[in-house]
Amino acid sequence: MKIKHIIFYSGGIGSWATAKRVVARHGRENVILLFTDTLIEDSDLYRFIDETVEELGCEYVRLEDGRTPWEVFKDVRYLGNSRIAQCSHQLKQKPAHEWIKANYKPDECILYLGIDWTESHRTKAPVKNYAPYKVEFPMCEEPYVNKVEMIKELERLGIESPRLYERGYSHNNCGGFCVRAGQGHFAHLLKDNPELYKYHEEKEQEMIKFLDKDVSILRRQKKGVKYNLTLKQLREEIESDQTEQIDFDDVGGCGCMVDYN
Ligand code: SF4
Repeated sequence: MKIKHIIFYSGGIGSWATAKRVVARHGRENVILLFTDTLIEDSDLYRFIDETVEELGCEYVRLEDGRTPWEVFKDVRYLGNSRIAQCSHQLKQKPAHEWIKANYKPDECILYLGIDWTESHRTKAPVKNYAPYKVEFPMCEEPYVNKVEMIKELERLGIESPRLYERGYSHNNCGGFCVRAGQGHFAHLLKDNPELYKYHEEKEQEMIKFLDKDVSILRRQKKGVKYNLTLKQLREEIESDQTEQIDFDDVGGCGCMVDYN
């Protein structure tokens, strides 16, 4: 039996570049693109996946748990944040892990993540957590390429990069939302897509009522003490031009298949 090479295919440009390298090394017939859908993805993510799957010519597997991150937060009675994000475990890591275990033994496949050379410190956790399955990170290897070069390569193939990058987002997950994101990221979401921001703001308020607790996705630090910062409060500060306390540089980081909690 030939080894299968399974890419955690997120719809982000890094996982696409990873797939290109793995296909070049092992042949498209031995590569599987594994996508786990959170059901709140940007509509353009599906266009990007469709076009790149066709261009890569590999087997494509789409998995869904059936819940959105907000439904997971209700089920686990915990609002996700930068420290603990059950959504990524329940909607991405768990379904992917179960599918792999059901279909391949550890010596029958190699798993691949789109972590690149600028974030190689993040490789340890997935190696440990997917063991005894082997995990590799082709974009941490030479030749080192950056996002601009990846976009150029996409252009050469006649494929438009995911529109969220063009609109200033650092990732293409969960439609531009992420509970691991920071104040700067949410400020950008409010500016770029107020309707979507409103949806998540209302969902956060729903969770506060549901848990009957003072919780929030974001936190703010003042004189070494951390405070909750709701999306409602962040929006009101921005709308009333009281922005001196907002950390616009804090974009946070999404690591759906990478970070464990
Ligand atoms: S992108 Fe963020 S909100 Fe979405 S599943 Fe991953 S960690 Fe959760």
